[in-house]
Amino acid sequence: MSAAVTAAESGARVIVLDEYAKPGGQFFKRTGDGFAVAPKWLTREHARGEALRGKLDHPNITVLTRALVWGRFDDRVMVAHEGHSKSIYGKALVIATGAYDRPVAFPGWTLPGVLTAGGAQTLAKSQWVKPGRRMLLAGAGPFLLPVALSLLRADVSIAALVEATRPIEWLPHLGSLWGQWPRFSEAWEYKDNLRRTGVPTLYGHKIVRALGEKRVEGAVIAKVDRKWRAIPGSERTIEVDAIATGYGFLANIELAASSGCELRFDEHARTWFVKCTPAMATNKAGVFVAGEITGIGGSALALEEGRIAGLSAAEFAGTLTAHAADEQRRQPIWQRARLERFANALNALFGPRPGLWEFLTDDMTVCRCEEVKAKEIAACIANGATTTKSIKDWTRAGMGLCEGRICRGMVGEILARDRDVALCSIPFPSVRPPIKPVPFSTLLQDDSQSESIAS
Ligand SMILES: Cc1cc2nc3c(=O)[nH]c(=O)nc-3n(C[C@H](O)[C@H](O)[C@H](O)COP(=O)(O)OP(=O)(O)OC[C@H]3O[C@@H](n4cnc5c(N)ncnc54)[C@H](O)[C@@H]3O)c2cc1C
Repeated sequence: MSAAVTAAESGARVIVLDEYAKPGGQFFKRTGDGFAVAPKWLTREHARGEALRGKLDHPNITVLTRALVWGRFDDRVMVAHEGHSKSIYGKALVIATGAYDRPVAFPGWTLPGVLTAGGAQTLAKSQWVKPGRRMLLAGAGPFLLPVALSLLRADVSIAALVEATRPIEWLPHLGSLWGQWPRFSEAWEYKDNLRRTGVPTLYGHKIVRALGEKRVEGAVIAKVDRKWRAIPGSERTIEVDAIATGYGFLANIELAASSGCELRFDEHARTWFVKCTPAMATNKAGVFVAGEITGIGGSALALEEGRIAGLSAAEFAGTLTAHAADEQRRQPIWQRARLERFANALNALFGPRPGLWEFLTDDMTVCRCEEVKAKEIAACIANGATTTKSIKDWTRAGMGLCEGRICRGMVGEILARDRDVALCSIPFPSVRPPIKPVPFSTLLQDDSQSESIAS
């Protein structure tokens, strides 16, 4: 939204393509159609989201929602929309496909009632559905705080918030966090809510098992060492009927990767992002990026990057002079650098540590779609597999409906561990269109001739 509004205000004609029913992404997610929410329950970001969404009502902007971009060929993006496949041409393209929760396997993680933190938040925030009556939130990092608040607002009782880091570990990062007062005040507000509702925070702990036969009936947590390895003998059981885990995000880079954009590996986040210049340009002429696909940094950073990418796209499309673009990019580029320092500090502090993968052994299901276990992947590596692609070919791990989004990271961790190589040496698998499942009936309804043109 930020990129579209900026580009449109710079004279470009813009088409916004969004897979969701309403534009706004994760942070400015709207409550679903048909839900009436009392004003007191609206989150602090609601008004900001509505204001930005309102700006999309611009003569230069066309918004297509429920429009899934499933690939890019040359200078056209392929879109599945209303049961038809269309190709849309644009002189410039901004990719801002966001991120999704990092899935983490532990005993019992496939039981009904185990969710990711973002999934639990989405249910509570946009549907007013309670993922459970009494929940445990486990993970690392500040994202657990807004999730807890969304769940409390949906009348879910939270037994405990289990945070893998300890406050003492935050001290060395205070220098980089210094000056980020709006972020601190946001965190304080969330923490205060938890305190007032009596939700305990257990630092230096993680979830080690979900209990239950047919669904979650409890959770076992344990103290962890600095590498997040469970300390034997420190386990304790908490009675809950749902568990949400939030150990950070993975970027949704498939569209950018399949478009030929160069990627970069981030050591702290232990995953791949799209490489870009300060002007948010990729190595592909006319393709710009913004938001979480360039690095996990939260909504404020994504908004600034959107502004920069919008200006650069308008410049590339020829509606803004290079001089004007340079001038207008200066301030958001400065803001971005400031916010990025903060994001880097958070990623260094809360990024995954080796103990998070200690359960990836033996009978642990790693690929849920194809039901592939850790020992099958290990056997495949022992037989010579060196890439996630070869493991996929041999075991089917990553070949299901999620196309590897759930298991790919964990397969990479097993590969790095068993081959004793750095995770960054394992390449991101090549992505081919369609980047997400599209019905054949849609592909057959090919409207590519009646293309729209964005300048
Ligand atoms: C579940 C969840 C909850 C979050 N909550 C918070 C929070 O409370 N506070 C915070 O600071 N950050 C939160 N984040 C982090 C959040 O991603 C960023 O703060 C911010 O939303 C990033 O903006 P973005 O534009 O990069 O991505 P997003 O906001 O995720 O937007 C990506 C958009 O791309 C669209 N899209 C993706 N792929 C396609 C495709 N192939 N075709 C068409 N459209 C596509 C999606 O529909 C979506 O609208 C959350 C992230 C997740 C995953």
